[in-house]
Amino acid sequence: MAIERTLSIIKPDAVAKNVIGQIYARFEAAGLKVIAARMAHLSRAEAEAFYAVHKARPFFKDLVDFMISGPVMIQVLEGKNAILKNRDLMGATDPKKADAGTIRADFADSIDANAVHGSDAAETAKEEISFFFAGMNVYSR
Ligand code: UDP
Repeated sequence: MAIERTLSIIKPDAVAKNVIGQIYARFEAAGLKVIAARMAHLSRAEAEAFYAVHKARPFFKDLVDFMISGPVMIQVLEGKNAILKNRDLMGATDPKKADAGTIRADFADSIDANAVHGSDAAETAKEEISFFFAGMNVYSR
């Protein structure tokens, strides 16, 4: 199994619930290492650029409004099979459909306010890590 990196965002709803530490504990228990992290309050332009792939979708404006409604915690996770492992920890996009014990089942309120983002493939992981951490010195642990 390859050592991978993936981009994770703890969204404004989960930051507001003060569960950053509880979500980090799940990453750690699953063998994912936090190798870079920063808190940010995204601008509208940043959120629109990050979610540009969803620009034509009906939920785009609500998604951007939500993502800029408060601070987010952004991290790079590294570990074996990190992309899929993080997606498994997150659970389905709609928390009502997420498996018991997943982050979204336990901390998300709705499909709009769904606690976390995680890259869905190797190519997007690379792009998303560059989007938030370009020019920063990201270590390997
Ligand atoms: N989203 C939404 N309504 C929808 C579908 C998606 O608000 O009907 C939001 C939701 O916050 C989701 C994000 O758009 O996390 C990106 O959608 P995607 O299908 O990529 O889901 P994810 O990869 O986050 O599970």
